[in-house]
Amino acid sequence: MRIDVVTIFPELFPAFLATSLIGRAAQSGLLEIEVHDLRHYTKDRHRSVDDEPYGGGGGMVMTAQPWIDAVEQISGGATPWRVLLSPQGRRLDDRKVRELATRPQLMLLCGRYEGVDERVVEHVVDEEISVGDYVLSGGELPAMVLVESISRQIPGVVGLADSVVQDSFRDGLLDHPHYTRPRNVAGSEVPRVLLSGDHAAIDRWRRKQSLRATLEKRPDLLHRRPLDLGEEALLEEIRSEAGAESEVMKAEET
Ligand code: SAH
Repeated sequence: MRIDVVTIFPELFPAFLATSLIGRAAQSGLLEIEVHDLRHYTKDRHRSVDDEPYGGGGGMVMTAQPWIDAVEQISGGATPWRVLLSPQGRRLDDRKVRELATRPQLMLLCGRYEGVDERVVEHVVDEEISVGDYVLSGGELPAMVLVESISRQIPGVVGLADSVVQDSFRDGLLDHPHYTRPRNVAGSEVPRVLLSGDHAAIDRWRRKQSLRATLEKRPDLLHRRPLDLGEEALLEEIRSEAGAESEVMKAEET
């Protein structure tokens, strides 16, 4: 997969792109990422990329020309899927990440200031994507969020294929809790079943904890996902345990 990033701050990227899984993916050729300086595509002496907004008001707007030229020249003859990072875009989620990961070539456009001239969106953007309902000062961190989340979906980037398959959201549920050595931390023991060596029991416990975490932290996910019979039964167990607990608490209170 190839990803081109266009930004006025290319210096933000090298450490990120050279580190950990993404660094390895780039070295092994699974992922080819190039960062382009938008100023390289300006035509004036000052290499300016912004101007005052028509209609007045504060702030500066990124001019269309460098963006349009950059996108055309970087694309060459190819047809990358062109994404503008924008708080007005569709909010990124696991499904969108997996969809983007199927595209052989992506171009990520990072805005700054008040954003880009609307004609850029009209002429050289296929899709606007947001990383959440808040406003950042630039599209560089959102572009890194995209690069990192997408790269995890490329086979071979994350060592054990399993660790992606079990991630939160992948099957519509949150991940189960994780434990490592030592067995006792500040008086809290590792759940016994994880030491049992009984893999069927461990699998069942993990599925139940996934359901419990989702029920407690993100019940909205459960409404969107059909449950199979086994999961229904586990959920029933969780609910009755929670009911029993609150009975005990009530009894303790009185
Ligand atoms: N005035 C604009 C925000 C501009 S912020 C508005 O209110 O819609 C400057 C740049 O930061 C944007 O062009 C975009 O590229 C990036 N950015 C800011 N918040 C973002 C978000 N939540 N998701 C993706 N990109 C964002």
